[in-house]
Amino acid sequence: MRETDLLIIGSGPAAVSAAQGYRDNDGRGRVLLVTADAHAPYMRPPLSKDLLQGESGPGEIDLQPQEWFDDHDVEVLTDTEVTALDPDGHRVTTADGSDIGYRHLVLATGASPSPLPVPGGDTVLTLRSLADALALRDAADGAASAVVIGAGFIGCEAAASLAARGVSTTVVAPEPAPQSTRLGSDAGSHFAALLEQAGVRYSAGAQVESVSEGSVRLDSGVTIDVDLVVAAVGITPNSGLAADAGITLDDGRIVVDSSMRTSAPDVFAAGDVATAFNDTAGRHIPTEHWQDADDQGAVAGTAAAGVRAQWDSVPGFWTTIGDRTVKYAAWGDGYDRTHHSDHGTDGPGESFTIWYLDSDGVTVGALTLDRDEDYEAATSLIEEGKPAPI
Ligand SMILES: Cc1cc2nc3c(=O)[nH]c(=O)nc-3n(C[C@H](O)[C@H](O)[C@H](O)COP(=O)(O)OP(=O)(O)OC[C@H]3O[C@@H](n4cnc5c(N)ncnc54)[C@H](O)[C@@H]3O)c2cc1C
Repeated sequence: MRETDLLIIGSGPAAVSAAQGYRDNDGRGRVLLVTADAHAPYMRPPLSKDLLQGESGPGEIDLQPQEWFDDHDVEVLTDTEVTALDPDGHRVTTADGSDIGYRHLVLATGASPSPLPVPGGDTVLTLRSLADALALRDAADGAASAVVIGAGFIGCEAAASLAARGVSTTVVAPEPAPQSTRLGSDAGSHFAALLEQAGVRYSAGAQVESVSEGSVRLDSGVTIDVDLVVAAVGITPNSGLAADAGITLDDGRIVVDSSMRTSAPDVFAAGDVATAFNDTAGRHIPTEHWQDADDQGAVAGTAAAGVRAQWDSVPGFWTTIGDRTVKYAAWGDGYDRTHHSDHGTDGPGESFTIWYLDSDGVTVGALTLDRDEDYEAATSLIEEGKPAPI
């Protein structure tokens, strides 16, 4: 059996940062990163943006250059799915039946696109991996029209990129405006305007009833004839390995403390697959963002090296729709009211800040477009539990 000191399952930001955190803190011995992905670690954010628009190629989105892996003495095994975890035996089994032993393990298995639960839903394209993005890009080459099902960030970004390629694109979603259920109606108006600026149509209040080759049928009875259908209806954490091993989950995510320790000895989890205790918030916060996966991975690797580390930063992300970047910092687990400020000059799709407040008026989030001073202030206000400057 192959033995490792630190075994990391995954190849996203949580995985690579875990390796870095371990080495940066004098973690010694053999570090092995095992991933089901066919490609060496790469960045996902460009998949729905530059790469889909054809502005960057697969070779330009490496998460780290090969020299980084050599310098840090981190081995990467691609195309290798881990199928079982035995926490008592400190080992995992891969799809070809090989066992790999570990002293410490980091589960950084991320998430997969949730299936579209309608007849024909299994025939549509989804977007999570580089292979998905290349398949979508190829399909877009021969397409005149596309429907993107779902108005989350990945759906909006992909739709804007398809439109930028000259594909006539419609986003179909149940919300009256994109993201309005989660982020409120003011945010929804801005996202609707950003989609419009990017040349995308938004079909509101629409539930997809079925998909068949060349068409999408809505519950209103309307059928849209289309060349390309993409579903972006949310993600499902890849927590099956942990669940089968008896590790504690909550709502499908692996529960970890602020040092990323799971309920099993010497097993850590980080990134989209985890719900981590945030020391500043004082509660578990599930996140689905690049920077948070990166931060949590670093904490897991540091803790695996035996050095105290905890996750205490405010979560957040940036999303780029067309050529406009919206920045968000928030605990992300709810708010009581919002305060919308467009500074009196601009309309939907132009610069704005939306402050998210709890019932005591404490800032719990901020969404901004071209208001970097508000975005920067927001992180400290959220961290310190202070009111918004409104
Ligand atoms: C198209 C797209 C655009 C995005 N844009 C943004 C953005 O602009 N800003 C932002 O903040 N976030 C963005 N995100 C989200 C961000 O990419 C994720 O939050 C982040 O990648 C999560 O990192 P992770 O390390 O937890 O997992 P992932 O990056 O999902 O990596 C998990 C890895 O684990 C592997 N794996 C899973 N199960 C197994 C197994 N059993 N055996 C072996 N390997 C396994 C998978 O193959 C995968 O490579 C985007 C995501 C996508 C898909």
